[in-house]
Amino acid sequence: MRAVILEQHGGVEKLRYVEDFPAPQPKAGEVRVRVRAAALNRLDLWVREGWEGIKLPLPHILGADAAGEIEALGEGVQGLAIGDRVVVNPGISCGQCELCLSGQDNLCPKFGILGEDMHGTYAEYVVVPARNALKLPDHVSYEQAAAAALVYLTAWHSLIRRGNLRAGESVLIVGAGGGVNSASIQIAKLAGATVYVVASNAEKAAQARALGADFCIDRSAEDWVRAIFQRTERRGVDVVVDNVGMATINGSIRAVRRGGRILIVGNTSGYAANIDMRYLFAKHISLIGSTMAPHADFVQAMRLVFAGKLQPLISKRYPLEQAQQAQISLANGDVFGKIILTV
Ligand code: ZN
Repeated sequence: MRAVILEQHGGVEKLRYVEDFPAPQPKAGEVRVRVRAAALNRLDLWVREGWEGIKLPLPHILGADAAGEIEALGEGVQGLAIGDRVVVNPGISCGQCELCLSGQDNLCPKFGILGEDMHGTYAEYVVVPARNALKLPDHVSYEQAAAAALVYLTAWHSLIRRGNLRAGESVLIVGAGGGVNSASIQIAKLAGATVYVVASNAEKAAQARALGADFCIDRSAEDWVRAIFQRTERRGVDVVVDNVGMATINGSIRAVRRGGRILIVGNTSGYAANIDMRYLFAKHISLIGSTMAPHADFVQAMRLVFAGKLQPLISKRYPLEQAQQAQISLANGDVFGKIILTV
């Protein structure tokens, strides 16, 4: 099959497009999806670069998000047929342990992410457990579905389930351009919150406003923590979404109200933050981490995409063979919304 493979960790030049990679075979309970669109995530860049102690069998195929058609069925698969259009839930769990059976499959000890822990979607075919394939309605394109999956399930689980966001609350989203942050703007608006966004420049601030944000702060032009205090009459916001991490967490701790919560699903600026613990207890702050989502949240978020209530923003498209260019665009941060590989 055609695929973009990673033979060694490192820079973008380590990605190699090939046409003769063996296609994966579906085992019992699994399906093989003919990928039509894959979407990039920051995770792809981390995995490509690798980290200390990473033990990934190489060559590896990156990519968490995909939509396409069911092309082969493993033994015992029911409810799906060859040719069905599907979107893939990239969170893969065992399906049998206590946590999986209690609907907390993202806490499964064997939980993994497509393209991080197993071969992913930068390829003509991907194999996933049948329960990870959700049928797509005809009016939803492969590109839209692939662009939506990981970021919406992640943002939905963090804001709605873990963060318990309620109508009337205020949410500050630190950073505007990334996929999870764009998704968070839309989900917070849909939930009835007032949304503040801190963007790195005026253009991204305008794009965040177009997505529905109520107040956008251009941090290149003003001190964003002070701006939040002024705009909330020195109260602070109920919820902060901070996936930037090291560079912004102390600002987030200052910008959140007393008794507020800070939601974390990542740390694009680095993980080794130095925080003043006194603020945490003095202000009664909850720091709430999560990663990915249980399957129920994936289904719920995708239903809102199918209904047009959440609309993933697609900024660029590249054919599979230009995965290097696609990753360069993502790494440069010169995009607003998702980058798609068409396969
Ligand atoms: Zn499990």
